[in-house]
Amino acid sequence: MEQGFCFNTLKKLAAEPDYTDVSLAAAERVRALAKMGCRVEVQEDVAPRRYFRSGVEMERMAEVYLEEGSLENAYVLYTKFITLFVEKLPAHRDYQHCSLPEKQLIMKKLQEVAFPRKDELKKRLQEKYSREHTEYLRAQRQASAEVDVCSQKMQCLSLLSEDRRRRLLLEEERQRVAALRRMQIESEQFRYFEDQLSRQEVANRKAEEEEPKMDIKGPEVMGGYCLSRQPIGDREQSQGADLHQTRLPGSISQPAATLASVHTQTVEGLRRVVIPSSLTYRFLLLAESNTTRGIETCGVLCGRLTHNEFVLTHVVVPKQSAGPDFCDMENVEELFSFQDQQSLLTLGWIHTHPTQTAFLSSVDLHTHCSYQLMLPEAIAIVCAPKHNDAGVFRLTGSGMSEVSVCRLKGFHPHSKEHPLFSVCRHVVLKDSKISLLDLR
Ligand SMILES: [Zn+2]
Ligand SMILES: [Zn+2]
Repeated sequence: MEQGFCFNTLKKLAAEPDYTDVSLAAAERVRALAKMGCRVEVQEDVAPRRYFRSGVEMERMAEVYLEEGSLENAYVLYTKFITLFVEKLPAHRDYQHCSLPEKQLIMKKLQEVAFPRKDELKKRLQEKYSREHTEYLRAQRQASAEVDVCSQKMQCLSLLSEDRRRRLLLEEERQRVAALRRMQIESEQFRYFEDQLSRQEVANRKAEEEEPKMDIKGPEVMGGYCLSRQPIGDREQSQGADLHQTRLPGSISQPAATLASVHTQTVEGLRRVVIPSSLTYRFLLLAESNTTRGIETCGVLCGRLTHNEFVLTHVVVPKQSAGPDFCDMENVEELFSFQDQQSLLTLGWIHTHPTQTAFLSSVDLHTHCSYQLMLPEAIAIVCAPKHNDAGVFRLTGSGMSEVSVCRLKGFHPHSKEHPLFSVCRHVVLKDSKISLLDLR
């Protein structure tokens, strides 16, 4: 019961009206959603361009949710879009000075898409929630009417013959036992559910201790490169991979990512990311000439949203300048125009460590932080061909809190107290198609 208690306490502590609660009036539920849509943070150190790019993708995602009938997600995203570009971003210190092609596009989208769709969705949600609320009230009334009938019956009992009275009493007793039994089964199911939860917890913790990366059990081979060779202990000691920080979804200390969803029926609050199993192999082939010279190669992971999960479909390798321990993308315009042309979302990035193991360096942490600020599901794949290893990482809650406010550049130390990054558990490998585009 302890876990149930904790869970309920946490839920109550959250205290805000829950948009899924049918006992609430329609307007209140819509308000709860709108509130989620206002949760957008803008960081001064992140260039406005990134937010404009994020806005382009936000609109793309909202469109998918709308098409798939996920009204809540669409409504929250359009609200976020409006909050970000009407209220928050104009206060950014570099906003007035930036003239970007996306700025105009976003203003147009605000007027022609975001505002009208938000209003339309609000209306549809109001209707939907009103129906649900009416249904809820009807069920409530029916339940209380049944209680009334029951007490009337009791009053009549005295007027009935002894025989009939006995029969009715027997029937009532039968019903009482059945109800008790039902309650017992329900409480058993509840206990079972709790038990499962705690067992899952233990299993997860164990898996984390044994399995360094990904959800996949056993030595899963990813295009000839094993994704799980190095024991997690090593990583933890050297880099401090986190075991607990990613556990609580939506941890308060984490900056509010612009592209987050309202759905939580996901892995630790994150939507799944499907990775084609040949990805690292294909990327390493492309990187080979750099790798043999001991130079890093990087690329951007792109994909689409479908049914509330991301599918990685493209790797774009932009022009870049690189060395043994760095890789900077150049001329991102080409990348952006390709993404826009194909309606692709940015799902993260991939890079090689020609001689080192697979981990996120302090510079990598900063690079990834800006991806994750935009999309909480963003992943960083690091390929370490020399060690026949690859890892899929993201920043932990403490990683995000620390790195997003860290002003240091180049390689520099971060706190060792908490693990700053961890292996992703919201990714799955599939034999899906992947296209590589080399723009170098
Ligand atoms: Zn690196
Ligand atoms: Zn730093």
